[in-house]
Amino acid sequence: MSALKSLKARFNKAAEVINLEPRFRNILNAPERVNIVNLPVKLDNGEIRVFEGFRVIHSTVLGPSKGGIRYSPHVFLDEVKALAGWMTFKCAVVGIPYGGAKGGITIRPKEHSIDELERITRAYTRALKDVFGEDSDIPAPDMNTSFREMAWIFDEYSRTYGHTPGVVTGKPLNLGGSKGRIPATGWGVVLSAMIALDKLKLDPNKCTAAVQGFGNVGSWASKFLVDEGVTVVAISDHTGAFYNADGIDVRAAVKHIKKHGTLDKFEGGEKITNADLLTMAVDILVPAAIEDVITEDNAGDIKAKLIVEGANGPVSANADSILETKDCLIVPDILANAGGVTVSYFEWVQNRRGHYYSELEIRDKTRPILTDAFNAVYAAREKYGVSMRLAAYIVAIERLRSAIELKGYF
Ligand code: NAD
Repeated sequence: MSALKSLKARFNKAAEVINLEPRFRNILNAPERVNIVNLPVKLDNGEIRVFEGFRVIHSTVLGPSKGGIRYSPHVFLDEVKALAGWMTFKCAVVGIPYGGAKGGITIRPKEHSIDELERITRAYTRALKDVFGEDSDIPAPDMNTSFREMAWIFDEYSRTYGHTPGVVTGKPLNLGGSKGRIPATGWGVVLSAMIALDKLKLDPNKCTAAVQGFGNVGSWASKFLVDEGVTVVAISDHTGAFYNADGIDVRAAVKHIKKHGTLDKFEGGEKITNADLLTMAVDILVPAAIEDVITEDNAGDIKAKLIVEGANGPVSANADSILETKDCLIVPDILANAGGVTVSYFEWVQNRRGHYYSELEIRDKTRPILTDAFNAVYAAREKYGVSMRLAAYIVAIERLRSAIELKGYF
């Protein structure tokens, strides 16, 4: 099932539970604005190549739209539309004053020099300079983009509109980035996991966890799980997975990655496969790598009592109904990995105020937002007798419906 079909299936299911009137469905089912841009850029060899870029604004009902920009040969319009919608529901469920957007350029970034990437990013920014804006649409890094591209976007945009750091988040610290952004998503994943364990009446000190993916989200989530007393028995990256019943030494794994780039040949555990990791008998499973790793093919074999979705879309829509029949609580992506966008929101707040917070202050401000969101979703789950995923969509949709009504769209 495509990302767009999957999003629509979940949205429509949640909409049915709360009898969402068709007029709201129609508004939320389609993006507000779709921008397609062609970017002629001179390559280092003098050739002019035209790149296709997208920026989809799904909703600005709750505030300026927010969402990442990805560089990948797999960027195409339907996927960008789905990811933009996802951001609307993610921001709404955590209650930050943003709508949702997503953008991207269809490109193989590894085939381009840094100079070419800079020219392409600047061309994309110029083409969308009337769409982006700290009060209208605020990009962020996503797949194959980072603080480097955000610095270029900030600079290119500011050349027209004057110094505007709040036009993008995920900037380098000395250009107005926020402290605490790098670990934010992994930290939020573990905060959600701890609240969920409490609901399940499980003691973190007696729990085991398996974490798929050891990049930004997975490595920080592993560290924070260990800090909470959980034994992380398995970790993985795209080269393979490692199991250690006594607990993986997460620091050693991070060191190994820093030295070798991947977990390949890591000596802190027995080599297993990513497929084995997903179906291991652990208390907590954190898929933090890519989408669609739990599908109808392996959902029946999942043994974890709690799945906390660090990645976006790790469970396919077809697997939802299989997992719902199991004794397994799933904290869905739009709730579990929202720590990142919440700290991005604080980056924007700091840029606009010109006043900067310590990492501790950022955590203190983020914690109640994520905790309240979790509790609201859990309460909706009880009220409607649905999964946490549907409950998260319900909370988001109810907030959007109320805002649409108050604004008087009709
Ligand atoms: P990353 O690129 O830093 O790390 C990805 C990790 O997944 C790497 O360790 C990679 O080796 C591993 N991986 C890739 N393919 C794999 C496979 N087939 N099997 C097992 N491991 C595989 O990315 P990230 O920033 O950690 O993001 C991971 C996921 O979390 C993505 O879905 C992303 O959209 C989502 N997410 C990230 C953030 C954030 O702040 N970084 C915020 C919200 C959601």
